[in-house]
Order: sequence, then C-alpha cells, then structure tokens
Amino acid sequence: MATPAAITVAITGSIPTKADNPAVPVTPEEQVVSAVEAIDAGATIVHVHVRDDQQRPSSDVDRYRTVYDGIKRERPDAIVQLSTGGRGRSPDERFSCLEVRPEMASLSTGSVNFATSVYENPPQLVEQQAARMLDLDIKPEIEIFDFAMLYSCVELLKRGLLAPPPHVQLVMGIKNTLPPKESILDFFLSELRELIPDATWTCAATGRFQLEANRWALRRGGHVRTGLEDNIYYEKGRLAQSNAELVARLADLCAEYDRYPASPAETRQLLHLNQTTESATTY
Ligand code: MG
Repeated sequence: MATPAAITVAITGSIPTKADNPAVPVTPEEQVVSAVEAIDAGATIVHVHVRDDQQRPSSDVDRYRTVYDGIKRERPDAIVQLSTGGRGRSPDERFSCLEVRPEMASLSTGSVNFATSVYENPPQLVEQQAARMLDLDIKPEIEIFDFAMLYSCVELLKRGLLAPPPHVQLVMGIKNTLPPKESILDFFLSELRELIPDATWTCAATGRFQLEANRWALRRGGHVRTGLEDNIYYEKGRLAQSNAELVARLADLCAEYDRYPASPAETRQLLHLNQTTESATTY
C-alpha cells in the first residue's frame, strides 16, 4: 500500500539570487506567490528564509511575519517552517523569527564549516533555543550537516529539551560538509534507527543531487525536500522555472516508489505537529 511522503519546498534560501535564476522569489510578495504555487503542486511544508532589498540574507521579523501571514492567508492548512539559519548574522537575530510563532523552525544542533564561513551553533545557544521552541510549541526540524549533530540531538532528547519524537533532516552537498552519497544516508539511518527509533526524517541534497536524494529517501520511507534554495536547475543546462515545477516533478516521482504526496493533515500526524506525544522510547 502506498505511503505518504511529506514534501518540503525550500523556496529561497540564503544564496541564490535573481542573477542565478530569475525565478528565485526574494520579495515577501514573490515568496508568498511562489509558496502558494508550490503548495498547489504538492508541497505541505514551506521552508522560508527572507532577504533584504539587496537580496542579502535577512532576519527581519517583519519580513518573516509578512511572508508567514501571506502564506497562511492564501493556504491556511500549509505548514510554514521558518529558517534560523546563519550566513553571517548574529544568533540573536537568527532566532528572532521564533517571535512569529511558526508551526516549525529549523534548529541545527552543532557548528560546521560552510563554503566560506563557520555556521556557529555553540552548545548554550542550541540548548537555549531548543528550550524556547519547546516553550512556544514550535516543532524544530533538526538540521544535520555533520554527524556530531545527530549525537547532540540525542543528548537534547535525553535532557528533555526536545519533545519526542524529533524530526531530523540530513543535509548533504553543501561545500565543506557531508558529500551527497547514498552510503552516507544509509549510515545516518542506521545510527538514527538505533538511537532514536521513532524519529521521522527528511533527506535533502544540493545541486544536481537534489533529485537523486529525493529518490534515495522515497525508496527508504523518508520524507523529501526540493526547491530553489538547494538547486536552481530543473535539469542539466536548464534553469527551473519555479519552485512549483520542482515540486510537481517530485510529487509525480512518489508513485515510482509506492509513495504519494502527504496532505497537510497527514504531514501533521506523521511529524507529530501540535500534539502532545508520549514517546514509548527511552533515549
Ligand atoms: Mg534553509
């Protein structure tokens, strides 16, 4: 029997600009339009970064709120996940978007080198922000850019700083982090199943490996992510026309693996959103 796969669309990110692909949505208005199209094509989770007027990464709470409210106004059922990601902004700024009280937000549980910078997440910051998300009933998506982050996630669970079961995302392909390899996903899953057996997971990869990683995850029962944040091409030599175009292809791909795009209600149930859950597992 086919099983549901939650499709996340990462609409903008910190890096691509309109010079790279004119379809990258950068103003709040463009972001809402792009998110709605992607939702209508099959995405249930919209991962949002905001930009300033020069297309640089921003943490402006008002912008976050405008995009959040705009998406929820057009598609009330959609799950909006705000990014607390870095790229040169201070931790206070990065986490200010939690004030918007999104249903989900990203949380990386460790530090890592990116292409030209350190993505800095010291232990105190991670603990403090995990506790804050718990307080505000915001479901973190634990971002795993390196394996230590998985073990740190287990520690947070043991200390009651994450509500079980967590949702984790393995991200591969960012320069200086884990390369996009199927064997790495398999090692990640073997550790995840041993340490946090009831965790839900998504696998994401960048560039030309985005679609490959979608296949790897669908085959293994995981959830999937696409979007212009991670990849601006539809195929070699041809830019994607929109986030929706990437989502539509992924939604179609699900059937090849006996999966289908999860509805918002199914996604909430699968990822234990807005539910007080008692985990049977002792971490
Ligand atoms: Mg992101």
